[in-house]
Amino acid sequence: MRVLFMGPPGAGKGTQAALLAQRLGIVHISTGDIFRSNVSQGTPLGLRAKAFMDKGEYVPDDVTNDMVRDRLAQPDAEAGFILDGYPRTVAQVLELDGMLADSGEQLDAVIELTADTDELVTRLSKRAQEQGRTDDTPEVIRRRLEVYADSTAPLIALFAERGILTAVDGLGAIDDVTARLVTALAN
Ligand code: ADP
Repeated sequence: MRVLFMGPPGAGKGTQAALLAQRLGIVHISTGDIFRSNVSQGTPLGLRAKAFMDKGEYVPDDVTNDMVRDRLAQPDAEAGFILDGYPRTVAQVLELDGMLADSGEQLDAVIELTADTDELVTRLSKRAQEQGRTDDTPEVIRRRLEVYADSTAPLIALFAERGILTAVDGLGAIDDVTARLVTALAN
């Protein structure tokens, strides 16, 4: 199963993608996690990405696309994956289309995890206190929500046109949301 998780920062993509991937026995690939791990290891990729992430901006497409191409080529992604946080721009969608076409694969589903803006800001502010992510400050949170609305929200329409989009309500208890996702993917 090849699934994309979309939705604004704070919608719970990372949490739910990890739970669901475990349940389905496929890998969870989060571009944000890969960037953060590169930042903490001080790799050249991490140094390049950090400047963008700390401002709430997207890392340039060429950097991100190459990273995802490498990750999807790993053997553990062959059986399927949940891709969380990619694609986020039209150029990334086209790039992903190409990657999948090269290996004769296609997406099975795109999930849009939804939550209203007040809830997103509350969750991200709480995470800032708990985890100290450098991009969870009020100013950067605002910018990330703006960048999502400008650059990524339009992709939802694109996947809806392709007939593979399902919106799932991200509000409520974690287990309840997981159950909704399981149902959505079974249909
Ligand atoms: P969130 O969805 O809460 O913003 P992520 O952990 O998914 O958090 O991403 C954190 C940051 O990593 C983004 O703000 C961006 O700078 C960078 N990033 C992650 N995925 C991408 C992507 N597909 N394209 C460009 N930048 C990305």
